[in-house]
Amino acid sequence: MHPHTAAIKHGPSLEQAGAILTIDLAALRENYRRLRDRLGGAACAAVVKADAYGLGAGEVAAALRKDGCGTFFVAHAAEGLALRMALGAGPEILILNGIHPGAEVDCAEAGLIAVANSAAQLAAWRETARRLGRRLPVAIQGDTGMSRLGMPPSEVDGLAADALDGLDLKLVMSHLACADEPESPANEAQRAAFEDFRRKLPPAPASLANSSGIFLGGGYHYDLARPGAALYGVNPTPDRANPMRQVVRLEAKVIQTRDLPVGVGVGYGHAYRPMAPHRAATIALGYADGWPRRAAAAAFFDGQRLPFAGRVSMDSIILDISSLGRDLLPGELVELLGGNQTVDDIAILSGTIGYEILTSLGRRFHRRYLDG
Ligand SMILES: *Cc1c(COP(=O)(O)O)cnc(C)c1O
Repeated sequence: MHPHTAAIKHGPSLEQAGAILTIDLAALRENYRRLRDRLGGAACAAVVKADAYGLGAGEVAAALRKDGCGTFFVAHAAEGLALRMALGAGPEILILNGIHPGAEVDCAEAGLIAVANSAAQLAAWRETARRLGRRLPVAIQGDTGMSRLGMPPSEVDGLAADALDGLDLKLVMSHLACADEPESPANEAQRAAFEDFRRKLPPAPASLANSSGIFLGGGYHYDLARPGAALYGVNPTPDRANPMRQVVRLEAKVIQTRDLPVGVGVGYGHAYRPMAPHRAATIALGYADGWPRRAAAAAFFDGQRLPFAGRVSMDSIILDISSLGRDLLPGELVELLGGNQTVDDIAILSGTIGYEILTSLGRRFHRRYLDG
């Protein structure tokens, strides 16, 4: 290992785990700087919901703090409270789903910023400010055409004149439904609707762009961008080459190897029967680790592609290692995600998106965080 590389260990020990997930915080930080550079003058937040898309919200946020990231978005109050514990006072933490009834006081006391998605959420937050006897920060999300979260324009029109009393409006935001399709007319329609939405509220910083939205151009940048996936190496421009660095490397241990004679049944359902004699290796990773069962993928050793033979099991996968020219030993590692096979590659093979692959990565891995 590089002498300047600090390694923090998480999860089961290297010896006890079947697979190793390496999270390259230096690559993550470079991705952050690349996105920020594209934004010109706008600020760049980081979306770290769902435990930073499975990579560890505390570690990810602490790493991005080193590059000056001061604003983090999570989905739930519980995520926000955990992140506040991890980061301490200082950075802004916003709760995208808004704060569920009953959780307001805990969130206010932890200095979290509620995203008010409805007049009811706004009223509850205002009431919390009144009860606590102090002003509270708030963001208001508008629904500009995704029909998921946020106030429709009519709801903002119906807000009482004193709806923001006791609250500091920190951000007006909305979310794009089709940002990864630059040709979609929905983007410009949402941008125009967002302009209208902003005008209904007192002046405040604005935010519209997620990862892909940053690549739609300056008109979408406003004051603050909210990338998630691109930070973690998922391609924000699916029609073009990935401008981001890979952040995740997943390696699994070889358990045992064997010869496969012609015609023998391999794995569940005997879904594979070799037409020629093969050498096979069984590795310690399966669908219980979040590896999609339907991805007819491969593992890599020294850059050599080792295709899956038969079905993915819960805790193991059988590889055809005939092409390798040497046997694999128990404990040797093969790569499943990394430079040879990316998160996006596996998403395409399994009919999903990189987001789902990352957030599905399991809890049984030995986790290693690298920071140059
Ligand atoms: C998840 C989310 C983001 C981040 O989206 P990416 O596509 O991962 O960049 C930004 N804003 C909101 C409201 C979100 O829900």
